[in-house]
Amino acid sequence: MLKLKDTSLLKNRCYVNGEWIDADSGKTFPVHNPADGSELAHVPDMGAAETRRAIEAAHAAWPTWRDKTAKERSAALKRWYQLILDNQEDLAVLMTAEQGKPLAESRGEIAYGASFIEWFAEEAKRIYGDVIPQHQPDKRLIVIKQPVGVCAAITPWNFPNAMITRKCAPALAAGCTVVVKPAEQTPLSAFALAELAHRAGIPRGVFNVITGDASTIGREMCANPVVRKITFTGSTEVGRLLMRQSADTVKKISLELGGNAPFIVFDDADLDAAVEGAVASKYRNTGQTCVCANRIFVQDKVYDAFAAKLRDRIMGLKVGSGFEEGVQQGPLIDSQALAKVEEHIADAVAKGAKVVVGGRRHPRGGTFFEPTLLTEVKPGMKLMREETFGPVAPLIRFRTEEEAIRLANDTEYGLASYFYARDIGRIWRVAEALEFGMVGVNAGIISNEVAPFGGVKQSGLGREGSKYGIDEFVEIKYLCLGGI
Ligand code: ADP
Repeated sequence: MLKLKDTSLLKNRCYVNGEWIDADSGKTFPVHNPADGSELAHVPDMGAAETRRAIEAAHAAWPTWRDKTAKERSAALKRWYQLILDNQEDLAVLMTAEQGKPLAESRGEIAYGASFIEWFAEEAKRIYGDVIPQHQPDKRLIVIKQPVGVCAAITPWNFPNAMITRKCAPALAAGCTVVVKPAEQTPLSAFALAELAHRAGIPRGVFNVITGDASTIGREMCANPVVRKITFTGSTEVGRLLMRQSADTVKKISLELGGNAPFIVFDDADLDAAVEGAVASKYRNTGQTCVCANRIFVQDKVYDAFAAKLRDRIMGLKVGSGFEEGVQQGPLIDSQALAKVEEHIADAVAKGAKVVVGGRRHPRGGTFFEPTLLTEVKPGMKLMREETFGPVAPLIRFRTEEEAIRLANDTEYGLASYFYARDIGRIWRVAEALEFGMVGVNAGIISNEVAPFGGVKQSGLGREGSKYGIDEFVEIKYLCLGGI
């Protein structure tokens, strides 16, 4: 059993209108621990009717929440933030149990997730409008910002806490209400957040969490005219579907989709720093993040030296259950994820890549996979086109700056990118030329609450976090006062 200090944080029912409820049918589905396949809980298998009721609850709660002062909403968010930090250890244990990441990473995610609530509690008070110099003497032109209304948030399993807070904190700060559908693999982290929101005094109906069949719930969220905004993090494929489904009701939409991050090491880079950056970016969360380095381009002159240093570093990574002391890499989320990693490696090897380290399932069995390093990777291999979402570092050799930029941009994705160099001219040129929403220059970990997270091209729409994050949850209203 899970060792929680506060066992009431382990919930197995949905949270709607301030109450814990089951599916109408009484049906449930199981939640598993990916490290050993054991069952952790059964959670409600809800459908369209329950989704509709959650949306109605959020709609009913909206006027009262919207009409509170920014300071009042801010105070409620701050209480939620503090309760999350007070319960950081229990929330981290729940996360490692259902998601698999090392406990240290789970603790980090709880703090990171909470930081969005703190930030947007502050931003709630700064949703300023404008006064525009009038175009006619008897007019006055004013711009105000108002909450969009009921928001539906669909979130993934790789960050079971932070993807919820990164969406819901700005929504609640702006005066919106929310219905969240977490990933089916990781609902327990979402329920625990709901329990703490309840204790923080966030009013009934303002924050709701439902679980069940993703496509049924998603269809209702998109079709329901009461929902004014869809905010989603997940695959590009599902993002496209949600966008299509939202077209009929012309919803506002934010999408954080797949990435295919390039990580470029130029010959003037600090190689040791580049190796550390690559390991942090690549192996975090077992390579299962949309900002993980997916293609590592290394300039000819430093290719062999970088490969040797990276190999030594990777060989030292400790693989195991996230609850074991010192573990740096947990299991993959499920057998499909494992199959994709194996397929990408087999395809690369068949086309001439060399396995330097790993390349196989880990002796621990289950969905554990060895940290892997591939060299002599070339365009045309699957892992150059698709997100591998696993602990595989493919090294591609390049000669010139132009070639590196062309190869890096040769993808339909445009989320995160990274490069290591010291020459200031090169730094500016490359930073400007990369067609990505985020660029880490001599930095492998770049996401935080104060900076705008998001992608270009088919990696998505909109930004989360930062002063820009609140824009996704407000409408601009123009007031024209005549007869002055
Ligand atoms: P991944 O491949 O990382 O699991 P998905 O895009 O499939 O990414 O999942 C992200 C979120 O989208 C999860 O909450 C999942 O349940 C949800 N989802 C999957 N399919 C659909 C769908 N057809 N409609 C709405 N949500 C969906």
